[in-house]
Amino acid sequence: MKVEILKSIRSEEQFERDQVIYRDSSGGLLSLERDSDLINNLDPKKLDLRKRPSDPQKPYHTSGVWRFREGVLNIPDEEIISYPEGNTNLYYRTKIASYVECEEVYLKHEGENPTGSFKDRGMTVAVTQAKRLGVKNVGCASTGNTSASLAAYAALAGLQAFVFIPKGKVAKGKLAQAVGYGAKIVEIEGSFDDAMQMVQKASAELGIYLVNSVNPFRLEGQKTIMWELFQDLRWQAPDWVVLPGGNLGNTSAFGKAIGEAMNAGWIKNKPRLAVIQAEGASPFYRAFCDDFSKQFKKVEPETVATAIRIGDPVNYEKAIGSIRNTDGLVDFVTDKEILEAKDQIDKAGVGCEPASAASVAGLRKLRKKGVIGKNERVVCVLTGHILKDADIIMEYSEPSQFINTAGDMEKLRYLCK
Ligand SMILES: *Cc1c(COP(=O)(O)O)cnc(C)c1O
Repeated sequence: MKVEILKSIRSEEQFERDQVIYRDSSGGLLSLERDSDLINNLDPKKLDLRKRPSDPQKPYHTSGVWRFREGVLNIPDEEIISYPEGNTNLYYRTKIASYVECEEVYLKHEGENPTGSFKDRGMTVAVTQAKRLGVKNVGCASTGNTSASLAAYAALAGLQAFVFIPKGKVAKGKLAQAVGYGAKIVEIEGSFDDAMQMVQKASAELGIYLVNSVNPFRLEGQKTIMWELFQDLRWQAPDWVVLPGGNLGNTSAFGKAIGEAMNAGWIKNKPRLAVIQAEGASPFYRAFCDDFSKQFKKVEPETVATAIRIGDPVNYEKAIGSIRNTDGLVDFVTDKEILEAKDQIDKAGVGCEPASAASVAGLRKLRKKGVIGKNERVVCVLTGHILKDADIIMEYSEPSQFINTAGDMEKLRYLCK
């Protein structure tokens, strides 16, 4: 086959890589596939050697996405649009380990990407492809982080970004980023799912290049979260990877990344995926309970975790494969559990936005149910930065943290005892 090709996940249909197309003739999703030797010939030693000091002139050299480029997108270096991104930290905190009652639990902090969420891992690839295709306008629907990321990468590439957002439902920090980086903001009366419908229409009628996670190039970049965490753990895969599920882009990308890493022999044991949804936005959980045998039913989403406030996930069909192929599972947590876990993560000095905390809240629940064992090795993915949603922190803060001394040292003296 050609180096890379777009393949339908439903049928035998395939398309040229550099064609602007998002779905097959039946409306099914596409996946970017390549000659498996490209990945199989990349060995862990070579990948370890590629971890080098940063070179501002050549950002892709140090990118945690483009380090795996043969498995991401095979193009000449000069065409890559990169900050760089990736190379996020993997944290161990005793406070979190005791909170979830797990001996070995790590936090992969994707909030440490350039715009503060994992979306940058996918966006570097999607915007690189947009630039290669010669388009002028790029667009997405977003609960916030995709728009912040797109706006930044479009600015880097010299493209115009259009972001479609549910009015009043996007955290201020994220919207401010999109505005600051120069995107045009299209506010939709409705939910993320309505914004998603609208941007697909705009894409079809106006030729705006779509970079939501229906875009298969996005998911190729997001695979590197999984590959990089294997590398962080010196190629000893964890038993479980726990992640929040909204539009299910990561769920889909992680399943693909695990399959490709197993085929290439980078890891010996296959980690299991545990996808955690918010109770009020859990259509994937419901489908999982029926073993994905029934017609998919969307829901009207509601949760404090705005980044996963999605009732009709675009990547549903791909995500099913990820659960099945990794012997994975789906569960849900309440908003209360999300906020409590977030408080623990914040107080451990790590910090994250609410949606990210669903992973830790979910792990705690799965430990209590005995689904995950105390001695199993677990990685929770933290998807976004603490500053993304400052309002929620202030809303749930303890009044006792604020001290009005009125110039009186005695009040402070008491607290300093
Ligand atoms: C986009 C996003 C999610 C949801 O990820 P999916 O891949 O759509 O399931 C979760 N957390 C944060 C912070 C996000 O920005």
